[in-house]
Amino acid sequence: MDKVLQVQNLHVSFATYGGEVKAVRGVTFDLHKGETLAIVGESGCGKSVTSQSIMRLIPNPPGKITNGSILFQGKDLVKLTEPKMRKVRGADISMIFQDPMTALNPTITVGEQIIEGIMQHENRSKEEAKKAAVDMLTLVGIPSPEERLKQYPHQFSGGMRQRIVIAMSLVCQPEVLIADEPTTALDVTIQAQILELFKEVQQKTGVSIILITHDLGVVAQVADRIAVMYAGKIVEQGSRREIFYNAQHPYTQGLLKSVPRLDLDGEELTPIAGSPPDLFSPPVGCPFVARCDKAMEVCDRVYPFKTKLTNEHHVDCWLQDERAKKAMLSTIS
Ligand code: SF4
Ligand code: MG
Repeated sequence: MDKVLQVQNLHVSFATYGGEVKAVRGVTFDLHKGETLAIVGESGCGKSVTSQSIMRLIPNPPGKITNGSILFQGKDLVKLTEPKMRKVRGADISMIFQDPMTALNPTITVGEQIIEGIMQHENRSKEEAKKAAVDMLTLVGIPSPEERLKQYPHQFSGGMRQRIVIAMSLVCQPEVLIADEPTTALDVTIQAQILELFKEVQQKTGVSIILITHDLGVVAQVADRIAVMYAGKIVEQGSRREIFYNAQHPYTQGLLKSVPRLDLDGEELTPIAGSPPDLFSPPVGCPFVARCDKAMEVCDRVYPFKTKLTNEHHVDCWLQDERAKKAMLSTIS
């Protein structure tokens, strides 16, 4: 499959009064053409920092990409100058956030905002831009788009506002759309509609989507592949099917037990006990060790190697690694 984006060994740190927080610690993944890759994990696991790094929106200082590369259209985004990066943002890679109001200006009509977005990046007349805006609002399912272009953001419901933000993010036909918790602020019914909209939009435009979420329920509906992040690392990655039906990392298994599932009627939901490690001084071994009921002696001392289970499915856990046994023996001797 065509790789649209390749993130390789990404490290991101933040300088704080208490020391350096290593928020992202060697993240590697590919995004394929036309797919939705979900990055899932608890708050603070580094998923938002990863997506902000792709957009080069990490405030420096205090944040800094300390290692790794982000390859897009033959360029390494990590090395791009700010003026060049500005051309990439919005036009080639666009991003939407949890709260649609952060992306909308309350004092300007929706139409003017969309048209301005188009004209900033593309050499089009105002008439053409207006037509494109109407087409986009139609694409995202807003009725009477000509009329609604004249209205202000507060005249729309939360769900409609998120539709507008999605329209704005797509007007320049980006290759990649990054959506960070795009439905978290919405109620459940609207959430489902917006997720459905992502699928429709993807079918019509071929855009590749990175969906950042803490909610595996959201992922089940739209993701083709899933990367599970914990303490700044991707600890398991696989197709949606592999993750939902054959998860091997105890953390992924824990996450699955903590979401309601239609196919497991009546099963009890159990949140994962404990909390993630402090990223000022991340553990040298497996970061999940303090919460893992299958932890072995080696887990505390050495970070597990990546074990490839299938072409797509891999996991960082000693339970899957034959070498764990050897490592344990070497401790004894
Ligand atoms: Fe648990 Fe060890 Fe696997 Fe980490 S490496 S998830 S501590 S079994
Ligand atoms: Mg976040």
